[in-house]
Amino acid sequence: MSFTLAIVGRPNVGKSTLFNRLVGKRLALVDDQPGVTRDLREGDAKLIDLRFTVIDTAGLEDATDDSLQGRMRRLTERAVEMADICLFVIDGRVGVTPQDEMFADILRRKNAHVVLAVNKAEGKAGDAGAIEAWSLGLGEPVRLSAEHGEGMDDLYRILVPIA
Ligand code: GDP
Ligand code: MG
Repeated sequence: MSFTLAIVGRPNVGKSTLFNRLVGKRLALVDDQPGVTRDLREGDAKLIDLRFTVIDTAGLEDATDDSLQGRMRRLTERAVEMADICLFVIDGRVGVTPQDEMFADILRRKNAHVVLAVNKAEGKAGDAGAIEAWSLGLGEPVRLSAEHGEGMDDLYRILVPIA
């Protein structure tokens, strides 16, 4: 059985880096129209022997105005509705922020099946953040480094029983 995983979380936590690592060159929807922003990117992911569809909630990076909160909320809700599982990413170097708590609320309200990920956790960098992450009430966090490819085997072990 195949499934769809949505990568959600506030800007700059490493969602797109993780998306790119999972998808590699197998990008399903490539936007080759200049000047057009795609808010949700979809790709065919491969993680060891698991294959699934992954959605990146992109298009938040440039939003710095008052509309950011609403835009993030709508985009995340759309992704949650499309997905079987949500990988909720926080930045392990920064720890839990009020914005992270807002995302946790959205996911709870939507009754999403959530896997919590603490990214940027290469080496010992994410230790404090991983402990703080428990406060979100979303269970045990998986520690990742999307940039360095660490923790991907742990993510695999979590996803296998769901798949
Ligand atoms: P997004 O806005 O959530 O999609 O985040 P991006 O994937 O664009 O990454 C934001 C920044 O965090 C970039 O500068 C990345 O290089 C950096 N980043 C992403 N993953 C990691 C990681 O695992 N470790 C570290 N140290 N930096 C990372
Ligand atoms: Mg991004």
